[in-house]
Amino acid sequence: MRLFLAMMSHETNTFSNVPTDRAQFEARNLHYGGEVVEAFRGTGTCLGGMIDAAERRGAVLMPSVAAAASPAGLVTRDIYQHVKERILADLHTSGRLDGILLDLHGAMVPEGLDDGEGDLIAAVRRAVGPAVPIAVTLDLHGNLTSAMVEGADLLHGYKTYPHVDMAERGVEATERLAEIIAGRIRPTAAFRKPPILPPLGNQGTARGPMRRLYDLADEMERDPKVVSVSIFAGFPYADIPDAGLGIYVVTNNDRALAERLAERLARVAWEHRHEFIHTALPVPEAVARALAADGRPIVLADMADNTGGGAAGDGTEILRELLRVRARSTVVACLWDPAAVAACVKAGVGSRVTLDVGGKVDDRHGAPVTVTGIVRTLSDGRFVHKGPMMRGLPGRLGPTAVLDVDDVKVILISYRWQTLDPEMIRFTGIDPLSEKILVVKSTIHYRAAFEPIAREIIEVDAPGLSSSNLARFEFKRVRRPIFPLDPETTFP
Ligand SMILES: [Zn+2]
Repeated sequence: MRLFLAMMSHETNTFSNVPTDRAQFEARNLHYGGEVVEAFRGTGTCLGGMIDAAERRGAVLMPSVAAAASPAGLVTRDIYQHVKERILADLHTSGRLDGILLDLHGAMVPEGLDDGEGDLIAAVRRAVGPAVPIAVTLDLHGNLTSAMVEGADLLHGYKTYPHVDMAERGVEATERLAEIIAGRIRPTAAFRKPPILPPLGNQGTARGPMRRLYDLADEMERDPKVVSVSIFAGFPYADIPDAGLGIYVVTNNDRALAERLAERLARVAWEHRHEFIHTALPVPEAVARALAADGRPIVLADMADNTGGGAAGDGTEILRELLRVRARSTVVACLWDPAAVAACVKAGVGSRVTLDVGGKVDDRHGAPVTVTGIVRTLSDGRFVHKGPMMRGLPGRLGPTAVLDVDDVKVILISYRWQTLDPEMIRFTGIDPLSEKILVVKSTIHYRAAFEPIAREIIEVDAPGLSSSNLARFEFKRVRRPIFPLDPETTFP
């Protein structure tokens, strides 16, 4: 069995003014050919799962390209075309192929296109023709479109948020693809797009409306005629017509069953749409509550400044309040400010510096804060994720400095990455367990690794481009009416 393998992954926040260009991909992942297998084998990622499952079955893998960048603004035409053309060229020279494995996101918006994945899948389909099956893994935040459904034989959305099942989905996509190749299943898909635009805050799958939907989906998957069910919570900050919740059901050659189950899930989602609305504490109240709380560490979740959702990562409102009330034994992890890091590097470890930090990307994440502190440590920002998310995958934060401002320790980083692993604190020499307050810039992902160590978690409603308060955004392109932007929306 000869399987073609490629990855292009980006979650695009169309409200961001930071273009996602080739340098952003180079800073994270841009691997070609055999390097793809070397970089991802054994990691807790979709590619890792695909590689393991393919090798277990003795399949021959034809790895093409693996491209991923931290979420930000539109993907530039240059890098999108480069990756797409590389995939098409490799398909052309791969010889006979039995199947295609694509690890995509589902909320990628390249310049001039609404639906990056739909375009990419369609191009692959045109290249290989109708007979070669295509299986695709997609993020739970994918904005499902008809082009994706029509172009691929199988879509497998992550079933968890925090995304701890990526490797499992990669394995599943590979196993199901092998069954299609063997002629054992004939995938027949149905999908629904109920008019709901869930903010990130209540999309977590541990509880709430997504748990309810996935419990129902798990039950449906017990039917041997059901191949798989994916519920896409969607990514509201990609302001495209198809943004929002998506339901996808694939059966073994039973169209009526697929339609019936998809309709049922869409109706249940609609009945419980109010559960997606999320509220968090204003900054002063959240900080006061953290200071008054017993034990340590108390996590303050800066949900709206999640670089994993395309926010700047340099939001300052919580830092400003912590300094105002003279908090101690506190860590801000992590603040993206390459210029501030460079100033710390120039000054050297042990130096006292006065700097403007954060608030530099746009006017949506608070203004810069002037601080005076001691440079405690400097490093190259390399660490290894300890999981559960991305376990084993090397992380790169670029040149990194810890600036200690009267015991508010600000971890300044040069590459954008959300605070989803306590290792991002530990590798700088700070023990997260011995601190009173940990500010993490993440919406939900931090929960996988921080819930087990946090005494309490406090969700904060600071400004930022991944805010769950959708009233902070001016939507222009998403289809209307849609809940909750239009409270009077009715089920079609
Ligand atoms: Zn996601």
